[in-house]
Amino acid sequence: MTATGLIIDGKAIAARLRADIAQQVIARMAAGARAPALAVVLVGEDPASQVYVKNKIEACRQAGITSIEHRRDTSLSEADLLDLVARLNADPAVDGILVQLPLPPQIDAQKVISAISPEKDVDGFHPVNAGRLATGLDGFVPCTPLGCLRLLEQTLGDISGAEALVIGRSNIVGRPMASLLIGASATVTVAHSRSRDLPELARRADILIAAVGRPEMVRGHWVKPGATVIDVGINRVARESGTGTRLVGDVCFTEAAEVAAHITPVPGGVGPMTIACLLENTLKAAAH
Ligand code: NAD
Repeated sequence: MTATGLIIDGKAIAARLRADIAQQVIARMAAGARAPALAVVLVGEDPASQVYVKNKIEACRQAGITSIEHRRDTSLSEADLLDLVARLNADPAVDGILVQLPLPPQIDAQKVISAISPEKDVDGFHPVNAGRLATGLDGFVPCTPLGCLRLLEQTLGDISGAEALVIGRSNIVGRPMASLLIGASATVTVAHSRSRDLPELARRADILIAAVGRPEMVRGHWVKPGATVIDVGINRVARESGTGTRLVGDVCFTEAAEVAAHITPVPGGVGPMTIACLLENTLKAAAH
């Protein structure tokens, strides 16, 4: 199914995906299997992380997925966290493991990610899963770029041959996004902080994906008329009124919406899809 509206309703698309996952969980349990189980590890008091974890746990509950929360103090040592990960790896009652990032400075996040069993790595950050994705093999794909691909599939259907620009090359979003787009037979360019003439690169793109972390960096005149714009950015900025803050993406929405054929809002675009794809990955881990 393809949508024709200007605004890509990530909330609605995510709700459909979540309902479908809930049905699959019911079918699995009707066949005698236990509920899929996700272990969620939260270290420290980062307010954004607390909100993300709370939302992920609630989404699990609604889909019939068991979540087991492991909260640890911000002073937790790297050795103790690696110990916890090893126990979760060995626990047959745990299908998926999610260690919420960022981690406190005394802990090497890459070391922890690499310690998670690739078969339980529902975030898809383990080098084995990154390698599987890069080589076109089946594995766990990071939830945010997977959610972006799902939005593109719903909006455009087949994207083979389309010119796609990904702005950002992080391991969490930009790089896996590029691999997914190559897998879908798009012609892919990856831009980053050292790229020259970003507006010119952007103007060639039928599909423009911004994953930068710079509020409203992508302007309307960068966007090719009729392009599909996926805004991954989540940036908190001060309100013009001077009271409080609001969320904006990496794309100047009002300007880009004048030119694009389809665009995701912030919030309500990519964010809800990230959570839905975490559930999808957890169900997949349980099915292994
Ligand atoms: P990151 O900081 O790890 O990577 C940012 C990338 O942007 C880097 O590769 C860098 O080279 C590039 N970049 C920086 N300045 C640039 C510039 N001036 N021009 C071109 N490229 C530039 O960030 P990330 O983890 O990939 O996240 C990117 C954004 O997406 C952030 O706003 C983050 O909050 C958001 N995010 C959203 C979700 C979601 O669920 N919606 C999930 C993950 C990240």
